[in-house]
Amino acid sequence: MTKISTQLSAVQQRIRAACMAAGRSPEAVTLLAVSKTFGAEAVQAAFEAGQTAFGENYIQEAVEKITALRHLPIEWHCIGPVQSNKTRLVAGHFDWVHTVDRLKIAQRLSEQRPADLAPLQVCIQVNVDGGPTKSGVVPREALALAQAVAGLTRLRLRGIMCIPEPAPDFDAACAVFKRASDLFEGLKAQGLALDTLSMGMSADLEAAIASGSTMVRVGSAIFGERHATAK
Ligand SMILES: *Cc1c(COP(=O)(O)O)cnc(C)c1O
Repeated sequence: MTKISTQLSAVQQRIRAACMAAGRSPEAVTLLAVSKTFGAEAVQAAFEAGQTAFGENYIQEAVEKITALRHLPIEWHCIGPVQSNKTRLVAGHFDWVHTVDRLKIAQRLSEQRPADLAPLQVCIQVNVDGGPTKSGVVPREALALAQAVAGLTRLRLRGIMCIPEPAPDFDAACAVFKRASDLFEGLKAQGLALDTLSMGMSADLEAAIASGSTMVRVGSAIFGERHATAK
């Protein structure tokens, strides 16, 4: 087995154990493999080990990989910031975007989504811990944005995503993830048909799953430490 397939199995095992501990079905949580800064060969190795959903942060870098691997049935998720001048690339290449935090960006993505592709699957990024430098809509504005995004024809709103600051321990991590989970449940109670709560990374996926995550985004635990800081 390659190193990537060994590490992928270990992450799958962590997800299963966390689901068991939380009394949840292992199918309740999807693994998104975050391949930013790693090349197309690393993505292909993980794909051959059974992984089909990949997350990328840097649009230009991602488009190169998506193009190189277009013969493979991979589901590509944009999990990095999307500026206005990048919406056309995102709408043309990705299956999902997790980082919508402004209506203007959502409108551009909807207008620019090519007619021959399925609607773009979208999560709204929420800044649940008030991190100052972080993107994301503040929680009290999430409902209005979600309702507006749900009305855009070429987008399909799936849920919310968050990237909290690293927490000192498991309980502290759960406390922050719980805010996202409460918001997610609140949006559903308002009538929005959501099924995706995107939260948890290599260091905190157990706390995220204990708090209701349905999609964990895991990079370094699968691909190793990132050295390049591609932009
Ligand atoms: C890089 C990144 C991840 C993966 O982080 P790891 O700690 O390597 O698992 C997940 N989500 C987002 C938004 C990221 O930028």
